[in-house]
Amino acid sequence: MLTCEELLRRACQQLDSDTPRLDAELLLARVTGLSRTSFRAWPEQILTDEQTGTFQALLARRRNGEPIAHILGEQGFWTLTLKVNDSTLIPRPDTECLVEAILDLDLPDGARVLDLGTGTGAIALALASEKPDWQILAADNSPDAVALARENAEALQLPVAVFQSDWFTGLPARTFDLIVSNPPYIEAGDEHLSRGDVRFEPASALVSGADGLDDIRYLIAAAPDWLVNGGWLVLEHGYNQGAAVRAILARSGWASICTGRDYGGNDRYTLARFPHGGSGDTDAQ
Ligand code: GLN
Repeated sequence: MLTCEELLRRACQQLDSDTPRLDAELLLARVTGLSRTSFRAWPEQILTDEQTGTFQALLARRRNGEPIAHILGEQGFWTLTLKVNDSTLIPRPDTECLVEAILDLDLPDGARVLDLGTGTGAIALALASEKPDWQILAADNSPDAVALARENAEALQLPVAVFQSDWFTGLPARTFDLIVSNPPYIEAGDEHLSRGDVRFEPASALVSGADGLDDIRYLIAAAPDWLVNGGWLVLEHGYNQGAAVRAILARSGWASICTGRDYGGNDRYTLARFPHGGSGDTDAQ
């Protein structure tokens, strides 16, 4: 019979992860129904044989590289707990920085917002949880992702309409005050695709051409038709893509171009507004 602490200690030794203790505690919390803090408050508590067996089985999946979010079937994002599965990207904390940046913009009451490539629905749902009066649409090309985002909206009781759409092609005709996307942006052949959680995520949510910018180029070219005068585009991108994204935006007539950083201090997203008509009037009202 092992104590919780001994079980966790042995588990950490077996895990080849950046966060072994956290991973082991999350799995043990799932098995026991106890909080992570209780393992510190009561390290000598003993698990039943059944609990120990279940824990070992989950640990084996993690040792095999499966993401914690897939094993648990959920991931925290913003203030929400989202269901996840292998049909979408697992929401990353860095994407919360886009949510913060959007909330800092001076958008009109009842703002119309579109989240393209929504995956779990993370960005759209986080915005909906903060701004009940915004009209938020989300879209994804993958039917499984659409089902998942709808399930999350339903479970959280947040009013986000989710469409199956290949970027803009399947959307109802309307304009938006803001379009946000965390598109695929990894270079095909990037060596980090063969390491860590991304091995278990769909390539369609990760990879975008030789330089990782194919989808970003498309979105920058297509978005103006879907934006009100002075409407915003907010794009997540790779830590080393800020200058390239700003250059594409500038060449395409966008204004107020600005790159923001993630929690690690890396360039992670770029915002810009599109002035229609060249009047220089970029007021989104
Ligand atoms: N941020 C993710 C990663 O680097 C990639 C997300 C994406 O391509 N949209 O693993």
